[in-house]
Amino acid sequence: MIFRRISHRIAGQFTAFVFLLLLVNGITFLAVDLQNDRFQRRNRLTRSAEVVFQGLRERPRGAARLMLPPQLRERVRIVDANGTSLYTGSLFEDIPFDAEEGIDVETIHDEPYGVLTTPFQIRDLEGFVQVAERESHGAQGLPFRIFLLLIVSIAVSVLTFFIGLFFARSSLKPAEEMMERLEQFTQDASHELRTPLASLNSSLDLALKTGNHREGIESAKEDVQEISVLVERLLELARLDTFILKKETIDASALLAETAEKFRDDAGKKHVTLHVTAEPAVKIDADPTLFKQLISNLLSNAIKFSKKEGGAITATLTKDSLTIKDTGIGIPKSALPHIFDRFYRADSARTQREGFGLGLSLVQEIAEQHGWKVEVESMENYGSIFVIRF
Ligand code: ADP
Repeated sequence: MIFRRISHRIAGQFTAFVFLLLLVNGITFLAVDLQNDRFQRRNRLTRSAEVVFQGLRERPRGAARLMLPPQLRERVRIVDANGTSLYTGSLFEDIPFDAEEGIDVETIHDEPYGVLTTPFQIRDLEGFVQVAERESHGAQGLPFRIFLLLIVSIAVSVLTFFIGLFFARSSLKPAEEMMERLEQFTQDASHELRTPLASLNSSLDLALKTGNHREGIESAKEDVQEISVLVERLLELARLDTFILKKETIDASALLAETAEKFRDDAGKKHVTLHVTAEPAVKIDADPTLFKQLISNLLSNAIKFSKKEGGAITATLTKDSLTIKDTGIGIPKSALPHIFDRFYRADSARTQREGFGLGLSLVQEIAEQHGWKVEVESMENYGSIFVIRF
């Protein structure tokens, strides 16, 4: 839920940014375009005025008519210094003369026109020339262009929102999964801690009630020990969740031999023989600490779940796999799909042997982090085979 909200917020902020960017960009372009339109209008009007001056200059003295190109005739007015019209194109017929110089926008026959008023002095004649030109489309269509800009910006922003949402969601997915795992882990951990804590509580209660403190404290100490082992394992698991692999090329044969050596005593106590066969100097890419932990968990299970009368454990290493085979109590078919779940323990194990059901889930996680596969085959009363495929 919280990740959904964060995704929406990221997408929203991103969209607002893009929308603003589009607006600023669009307005800048519109302004530049408008400026350019004005500049060109001024150029055209000035050029037209030049043509009129040319006509005035070339007019023979005393001639009544002025020679103007046909496309200009309607759009020109010439007045003398007193404001008396010397020539009035049809466009200017109903428009009173205003001697203010420069370009002005006027509505003539319901259409917007740019009108340039400019003074002249040619020979003995002095006055003003006015030239008109229809406003260009750009300036006229400004409201429409702003409307278009808004519509396009909104459409692109909506698209950006959904694309942003998609990217935010996929980027946050690993964090969301991690959070879910963490929640699950916290729940599992507190659930598992409840039993030994309740047991510790009742041991102390009993000691208080009966006055037999020594027995109570001894029992409480056992509970505390169990709790600390559980906490230690939980920490290992939690660390693994956020573990950054320190992979290196390791001599797996040497590591297996070294780790197995530590289990010889335990195996001996349970009358179990331990054989290690490894191809010489098998090199794999792995985190040595985690690889050792994986071997230890599998070997300690093989010893822990051996039969009362002993048995044999073989650890075999090739360049492609590690196999740990035991002749112990085996795993019931119904339990097989669950043995890698956190805190899962098959019933027989729960009643007879200590453990928290975390060893195999650690093995599974370590394998996953290295990109290895874990396979298991087992038959009740005959034994189990765990294979790690590199
Ligand atoms: P734990 O050993 O703490 O019970 P694990 O996660 O290591 O937890 O194992 C989960 C369960 O799988 C064990 O409780 C046991 O029932 C079963 N199991 C694991 N390894 C073996 C094995 N070598 N032989 C028989 N059963 C096993």
